[in-house]
Amino acid sequence: MARRTLSNTLVAASLAVAAGAVVAQDGATYTLADYDRVVKIDSHMHLHNAESTFVEAARRQNFKVLTINVDYPDFPPIDEQFRVATALHAVFPATVAFAGTFSVDGSDRPGWAARTARRIDAEVQAGAVGIKVWKNIGMSLRDAGGRLVMVDDPRFRPVFDHLAATGVPLLGHQGEPYNCWLPLDRMTTNNDREYFAAHPQYHMALHPEMPSWEQQMAARDRMLRQHPKLRFVGMHLASEERDVDDIAAFLDRNPGAVVDVAARIGQLQYQSQRDREKVRRFFVRYQDRLLYGTDLEQGPGQPGAEMAAEAEKVWRAQWRYFVSDETFGVPELDTPVQGLALPREVVDKLYRINAQRAFPGAWGGLQ
Ligand SMILES: [Zn+2]
Repeated sequence: MARRTLSNTLVAASLAVAAGAVVAQDGATYTLADYDRVVKIDSHMHLHNAESTFVEAARRQNFKVLTINVDYPDFPPIDEQFRVATALHAVFPATVAFAGTFSVDGSDRPGWAARTARRIDAEVQAGAVGIKVWKNIGMSLRDAGGRLVMVDDPRFRPVFDHLAATGVPLLGHQGEPYNCWLPLDRMTTNNDREYFAAHPQYHMALHPEMPSWEQQMAARDRMLRQHPKLRFVGMHLASEERDVDDIAAFLDRNPGAVVDVAARIGQLQYQSQRDREKVRRFFVRYQDRLLYGTDLEQGPGQPGAEMAAEAEKVWRAQWRYFVSDETFGVPELDTPVQGLALPREVVDKLYRINAQRAFPGAWGGLQ
């Protein structure tokens, strides 16, 4: 008995040491070496392959993931995405959480909203911790008269009401980065330039007849005003990435919303090259509202080892930006960027705590 008590005491003591190492003293920062040890969440991924190699690699690096299903024609059909997500979640419930989605096909016909609410319930029953809507709403879905259907269209109201009533977060990707409305040579980051060069159909500078960035943001804000109880996760910094002041204003006028940084870290780095203190102040001030994510996709045929190598490279480079004050090159920009050296407690919220709060019950619940 005494021995057991002693060994329990030793276990408790070593856990306290391990936990203590992660607890921040004021202003203390993590190092690059801490990357392996700190529990982290990538809350914006798209895993389209149920094979386990990638998830096992993530787990070795103490990374948990949220894989998000999307009604996106370049991805597998949404029922197939759901099958992969539930399969991964079943094998790795503490590592893989997922968000479901629904199709907007037939959304102008009676019965669509009720059918969609039932689909959402079934997805939540199967473990989904949120529901995603994509930029096809606002940018490609059209009504019978040929007009674009925006996210505040009355047809979606019962579905968003249902999410608000059941407390299921809505993950919203509306509009695009502001760069999308600029010619390629005026875009601020290489990733936007490459994406819109490859997807001219989404490059709004080529489609002046389409709604402006301001109109996309206004439709999203009207929808949020109509659903004040909706838990909203703005994907990609809610498309307000151009200026941290705009992101701050969005968060101020929508106190129930949080945003992820997925695929927009280059935009933050672009701003921190010009005024690092301003970006750093933003992360400290809004430390409870920001979620780390990458938007990396594992294609259906992509080998897990290849995906694991790609993800580790991105994860480590972005960790370096957030935790250190080193200066280094990034693929999104042509000139080097200096890291933000955020305090540990801010990094813990960005990388883990805010995602656990935004998606209650995900990854086996709060640990
Ligand atoms: Zn995405």
